[in-house]
Amino acid sequence: METVTDYFGSLVFDDRVMKARLSADVYQKLKVTIDEGKRLDLSVANAVAAAMKDWAIGKGATHFTHWFQPLTGITAEKHDSFISPAPDGRVIMDFSGKELIQGEPDASSFPSGGLRATFEARGYTAWDPTSYAFIKGHTLCIPTAFCAYSGEALDKKTPLLRSMEAVNRQAKRILKLFGTDVKCVRTSVGPEQEYFLIDRADYDKRSDLIYTGRTLFGAPAPKGQEMDDHYFGVIKPRVAAFMEELNRELWKLGILAKTEHNEVAPAQHELAPIYTTTNLATDHNQLTMEIMQKVAAKHGLVCLLHEKPFAGVNGSGKHNNWSLATDTGENLLSPGETPYENARFLLFLCAVIQAVDDYQDLLRISVATAGNDHRLGANEAPPAVISVFLGEELTAILDAIEQDVPYEGKEKVQLKLGVHVLPKFFRDTTDRNRTSPFAFTGNKFEFRMLGSSNSIACANIMLNAAVAESLKQFADILEPAENFEETLHRLIRDAIRAHKRIIFNGNGYDDKWIKEATEERGLLNYRTTPDAIPHLLDEKNVAMLTAHRVFTPAELASRCEIQLENYSKTVLIEARTMVQMAKREILPAAARFAADLASQALCKKQLSPALACAYETELTQKVSALTDEIAVRTQSLADEIALIEREPDYIAASAMIRDRLLSRMDDLRAAADETETLAGDTYWPFPTYGKLLFGVR
Ligand code: ADP
Ligand code: MG
Repeated sequence: METVTDYFGSLVFDDRVMKARLSADVYQKLKVTIDEGKRLDLSVANAVAAAMKDWAIGKGATHFTHWFQPLTGITAEKHDSFISPAPDGRVIMDFSGKELIQGEPDASSFPSGGLRATFEARGYTAWDPTSYAFIKGHTLCIPTAFCAYSGEALDKKTPLLRSMEAVNRQAKRILKLFGTDVKCVRTSVGPEQEYFLIDRADYDKRSDLIYTGRTLFGAPAPKGQEMDDHYFGVIKPRVAAFMEELNRELWKLGILAKTEHNEVAPAQHELAPIYTTTNLATDHNQLTMEIMQKVAAKHGLVCLLHEKPFAGVNGSGKHNNWSLATDTGENLLSPGETPYENARFLLFLCAVIQAVDDYQDLLRISVATAGNDHRLGANEAPPAVISVFLGEELTAILDAIEQDVPYEGKEKVQLKLGVHVLPKFFRDTTDRNRTSPFAFTGNKFEFRMLGSSNSIACANIMLNAAVAESLKQFADILEPAENFEETLHRLIRDAIRAHKRIIFNGNGYDDKWIKEATEERGLLNYRTTPDAIPHLLDEKNVAMLTAHRVFTPAELASRCEIQLENYSKTVLIEARTMVQMAKREILPAAARFAADLASQALCKKQLSPALACAYETELTQKVSALTDEIAVRTQSLADEIALIEREPDYIAASAMIRDRLLSRMDDLRAAADETETLAGDTYWPFPTYGKLLFGVR
């Protein structure tokens, strides 16, 4: 029998394959490109391309594609076959170094947020050798960055790579001061992915799921998640079969799928991989989401990645576990054994704390989507206010440093950084408390605000850039210091003093916290996407992101526009779907039900006026009144949609959606859901929550 170790990575052109299939010289040169970002010359690229092609053809591939991540948030690919005509009428299979390195998809239909109006119309894709090529179906996929000819990034990978480079640059400056010379510092990420699985047949009957990925109508089932019996529960056979195949497919692609379990809501599950370099983790997470959907289809299921597929039960998020490590494998967020390691740990810890405090808005923006607005602050996911959880012990250590007082741990110790070993502190067990948006969990930070369908690129771009900025500020102070230890001690103390307002170990769901956070601590609370996104262009944010060469001003302006437009488009599609479902399905069903009740009442009356028919009469009355209500609210929603569609300014449109459209959608839903609870089972035009959430066995 084939075991996991036999087929793990079998569809990846990884280091193993490169070593086996490339000459020693070509392999060496490629390695330098991968590790140090040196340019690859064409003769080497040709050799790599030929080896890649032969390997891929041997695995059944007929096509290749430059696989990229445009600003739609999903991945894009355009397939070209390897065939090339030979003079005698046959074909040969051909793939050149040029085709490997650069592609030119017709990119005119991808969102560019005005970039293409001002710059070149065409875009090109460029090979990212730091992420391995892989085979999907019959296609060799080459991970690429996607840019305009002017150099402006049109994708998520380019700024991510730039942000990783920014962290690398600044972290190396710091490490040098500690006497450590490393080749590079990389950020690592392990994203925990939540999702729902429902039956395909039920999905097909609901246009809300088909068009929007979430239910726009639906009364709660008698049972939700109140029994806590799904979380970590026994996995049902159909789901287990899905997970088994999913794992196999992911493993073949070298994706380190590790943990799987049932989540809190019925029909909700989670998959977590073992962490890896951020760039790779991002590619892998995009692939994971795609393959989840494909494998689900094979099992007669649909995988919902929407942040809030069902009202009344938890939605889905993604926890972004993040750390910094050297190429020698040292985790810079791990408390060490020696005074020096400890001081270094505290410095990096403070860099992250400062970064999160200074750029709360960018972190919030990085997770702002219409879907995620349903979760953040809804007592199922962290609030929209960002804070950092450190746990009691680490907080007490920072307090002691800040106030220059002895730390009252197991034994009393005065802390002198760079001289003393940190007292041993234990990983705070309350990190299981999921209410913190940004939690330190022993040797990594867990950013918990991401939505389940988000690309993790955005959050990591902002996190990396903000941390690079704190490290830069620290390095600027430390490099010229005459007394390194004194300066370091003061720097850490000052950083704690300046940024301790962001540290919060309590319950993030508590309303009192939101009040304290905003009123006493002055933390930001951008509740919705339209509240958050425009701040991308705040002067301090543009200054920082451009200084670290993560974005250009034009890229930022385009991204602001795209993200807000995306919000508006998403909600407008939802609203139109509601209008259509109400008009074509719900209203006719409600009217039919009321008419049937009325005619039954009439029949009884005709037979004998003495026959009781209060049930029919009263229900006819109730359902008829609700039907009118639904009709009125549908019209009001339709009118509002028309108004917003005519609004030319994208910022104004998004504000109208937030302030006027969403409440009309809620109103329509309330009337329809109430009708659903009254209507006979055979009348309701689409599967109910009960069927959707508990239907898969
Ligand atoms: P939990 O958060 O449930 O305690 P783990 O600590 O095992 O679970 O990790 C959750 C995720 O964090 C996994 O994807 C794991 O690979 C990842 N992870 C663990 N250590 C690190 C690290 N140093 N850097 C980044 N991610 C990490
Ligand atoms: Mg976790």
